[in-house]
Amino acid sequence: MTNFSELNISASTLKSVQRMGFEEATPIQEGTITHAMGGRDVIGQAQTGTGKTAAFGIPMIEKIDTKNPNIQALIIAPTRELAIQVSEELYKLGYDKKVRLLSVYGGQEIGRQIRALKNKPQVIVGTPGRILDHINRRTLKLDQVQTLILDEADEMLNMGFIEDINTILESVPAERQTLLFSATMPGPIRKIAERFMKDPVEVKIKSKEMTVENIEQFYVKATDREKFDVLSRILNVHQPELAIIFGRTKRRVDELAHALSIRGYLAEGIHGDLSQAKRMSVLKQFKSNKIDILVATDVAARGLDISGVTHVYNFDIPQDPESYVHRIGRTGRAGKSGIAVTFVTPREMGYLRIVEDTTKKRMTVLLPPSSDEALVGQQRVAIDTLSEIVNKNDLGDYRTLAAEMLGKFEAVDVIAAALKSMTKEPDDTPISLSEERPLPARRERSGGGGGRSGGGGYKGNRSSGGGRSSSAGRGGSDRGGAPRSSGGGGSRPSSSGGARRSSGPRDGSTQRSTRTRSTRSEN
Ligand code: ADP
Ligand code: MG
Repeated sequence: MTNFSELNISASTLKSVQRMGFEEATPIQEGTITHAMGGRDVIGQAQTGTGKTAAFGIPMIEKIDTKNPNIQALIIAPTRELAIQVSEELYKLGYDKKVRLLSVYGGQEIGRQIRALKNKPQVIVGTPGRILDHINRRTLKLDQVQTLILDEADEMLNMGFIEDINTILESVPAERQTLLFSATMPGPIRKIAERFMKDPVEVKIKSKEMTVENIEQFYVKATDREKFDVLSRILNVHQPELAIIFGRTKRRVDELAHALSIRGYLAEGIHGDLSQAKRMSVLKQFKSNKIDILVATDVAARGLDISGVTHVYNFDIPQDPESYVHRIGRTGRAGKSGIAVTFVTPREMGYLRIVEDTTKKRMTVLLPPSSDEALVGQQRVAIDTLSEIVNKNDLGDYRTLAAEMLGKFEAVDVIAAALKSMTKEPDDTPISLSEERPLPARRERSGGGGGRSGGGGYKGNRSSGGGRSSSAGRGGSDRGGAPRSSGGGGSRPSSSGGARRSSGPRDGSTQRSTRTRSTRSEN
């Protein structure tokens, strides 16, 4: 792993990178940044979520001459959503250097874009159709472009943009650097590379084996509003020794950690906005068992070296399957088993499917324990704990104290009190969690780009999804928009014969085998 500070990046860009919370370069970044900064054409191939934007963004930003008012770099992305996402990331990367950036995509009033183009942006991020439109109107002057980037090239192929791309590529100066990034490298994309690139360096990062062997994976269906209560009940039943709860955003992490603390859990949040010192101190508390729940964003948890995590809760389902695998891979390490529970809102069921396709494992549905069941589960744990201590038989002085108490109270009351003190009774202290918007409905192209190993057809969709297929005017079978039938009519394998689960860890393994596959593939 290479730290960004070892990559010969200018101080201003390094500062931006660090502000974004990046420390180590991802493999695709490590493999491409130096070549691209050396002026070479680069083909970068790596799965979704591996940091391809910064892989081309950093060298591109480095090359911009901020005194030159012309458009020096053009980035083509397949959809409006991806263009927005890329421009946001590039904006952050170029923040300290003060690079001027503009995104142009369909659906936005063209007059406004034309006016914005007069402000002399140095970097343009756009979708093929809109870029062409501007080229035809002569509102986009590309004769000074020195860097051309094709992002998510395979996706552009899938969407039928090859012609447009050819046209655009012919409108930029031949003397330029071309960077092409893609998750896969189908033939037509390779042809474009041969035709328009000069002796490109190819960097291909193989996707890691995704093994989640000794992790028991559950999912809970709950609306955003229900999530917190369900989580606290599950926590009361599981009583995790060391747990990580993942939230989608920094705000989410802050609010969740706060809410858990209010309800009496030993929890702390960790995310990129915290100072390095604070992050270190939270981690230390977690590692030394002073807190037993760490609430984290993906980015904050990336690369953290924590062992002994017994439970991972995805309070919000991650946006891509790779993140899921990373997240749950925090448990079940070193031969130990682990439990992973993913919360899914009805609208996000499509994402669950994609995760399952990637890991090639079905998750077991976990029916949320009612508060009574949660209580019973805990009481049982308390009884087990007491019995265990009795069996160990090293009570020493405690016996004297017990005898004293028995002089005053009924034995049964004393034991009941001990159990009560060990049980976390339902706590209704009000908490407040802002609503988290669900991920965009997932759609699947009916044409299908096909052949995406491991990725299960999913990619680059942190904020796109629905818009992608509709803006391109192609049909898409709905994959995740509609909630899966919620088990009505017995279509869902009701785990443990219809009984509500009240304790995940203890009988989880028997459940997996009772699960039938067929019912999950109906939509
Ligand atoms: P891709 O284009 O390969 O799908 P992205 O460029 O969108 O991936 O990056 C995925 C996520 O990872 C983004 O949220 C990005 O900010 C983050 N990221 C990228 N590089 C790093 C890094 N070196 N360290 C931490 N986070 C990173
Ligand atoms: Mg990308």
